[in-house]
Amino acid sequence: MGTLVDVVLYADEKIAPVAAGQAFERMIRVEKAAHPSEEGSPLFQVRQGKGVKIEGDLARVLETAMNVSRATSGAFDPTLGEVVQLWGFGRDDPRLPGLEEIEDAIDNAGYDKVPDGQCCPDGRDIWFDLGGVAKGYSVDVAVRALKEAGIKAGIVNAGGDLRSFGVRPRRGYWKIGVQDPDNPQELAGVLEVKEAAVATSGDYQRYFEEGGIRYHHILDPATGYPAHSGVRGATVIAPDCATADALATAAFVMGPEKGLAMLESWEGAEGVLITDDGKILTTSGIGEGGIRFERREKTSD
Ligand code: AMP
Ligand code: MG
Repeated sequence: MGTLVDVVLYADEKIAPVAAGQAFERMIRVEKAAHPSEEGSPLFQVRQGKGVKIEGDLARVLETAMNVSRATSGAFDPTLGEVVQLWGFGRDDPRLPGLEEIEDAIDNAGYDKVPDGQCCPDGRDIWFDLGGVAKGYSVDVAVRALKEAGIKAGIVNAGGDLRSFGVRPRRGYWKIGVQDPDNPQELAGVLEVKEAAVATSGDYQRYFEEGGIRYHHILDPATGYPAHSGVRGATVIAPDCATADALATAAFVMGPEKGLAMLESWEGAEGVLITDDGKILTTSGIGEGGIRFERREKTSD
C-alpha cells in the first residue's frame, strides 16, 4: 500500500511478536485482495466486465467504500481506477496526463455504475481503485487480529491512518500528531483519543511538481484533476479506520464548509480540517467524549 506500518503493543514480550506477525499477515492479505491490477484477482476480473463473486475482506472494504461514496454523492469515488492509473500516483513516475485522456477515463468512472444497495456491479466493467479506503481497512483487520491474539492495548499506524485500542498504560489516552500541511515535519496540533480510529488525507502526502504547479493524489471525481477545495489536510476520527480513511478523502474533496457539515452529520465521526489559509476547523464533538485537540503555535514562518 506504499507505506510503512508501525505496530505498538503493550503486552507480554512472548506474545507480542507473534501477535504482530499475525496482524501483518492479515494486512498483506488485504493489500493483495484490494489491488486492482493483480492478474486473475476479483477486481481485475470486474475491470474486464466479468460478473464475479466478491466476498470476505474485499466485499467489506467495497461496502464501506460504496457507503461513503453514496453518502457524499460521489466526492469519495472508488471507481476512479483508470484516472488514478493515468496520473500514476502510486508509481515512481507520476505524470500530468492529457485533457482528453482524463475526460475519457472520467467517462468510464462513476460510483453510480454500482447498483444501489450493492457493493459490486454485476457484469459491468468497473475499474476500482481502493487507495482511499483499503489502508484504513487493513488497520481494522490488524487490530482485530491483535485482539484475537489476546493483546489488550496497542496502536496500529499505517502511515498516519491508525487505530488505537485498549487503555494505554499510565497515560490512558493516545496522542496523535496532526501535520501542518505547509510544513509536514511540524505539527499543526495534537489529538488525544482513547479507543479511536484516525485517518488523514493531505495534499502534502503524495505529489509531484511540474511547471511550478503541485499535483497531488486526491482527485476531484468531477474533473479528474487534483481537488482544490480549500482544504489542505483532513483528519477524521471514526468508529473504524476504513470509514475514517474514506471520510477523510471525501472531506478533503468536499472542502471546508461541506466537508465539516458532512462530518457533523456522520454518526460517530469527528474531524479537524486545515484550510488553504491555515485556519483549523473542528467538528463540535472535539473537546467532548474523550477527544481533545490542542493547537500548536507555528515555530517557523
Ligand atoms: P487518501 O490518501 O486516503 O486520501 O486516498 C487517496 C488515494 O485514493 C489516491 O492515491 C487514489 O488511489 C484514490 N483516490 C483519489 N481521489 C479519490 C477520490 N475522490 N475518491 C476515492 N479515492 C480517491
Ligand atoms: Mg482516505
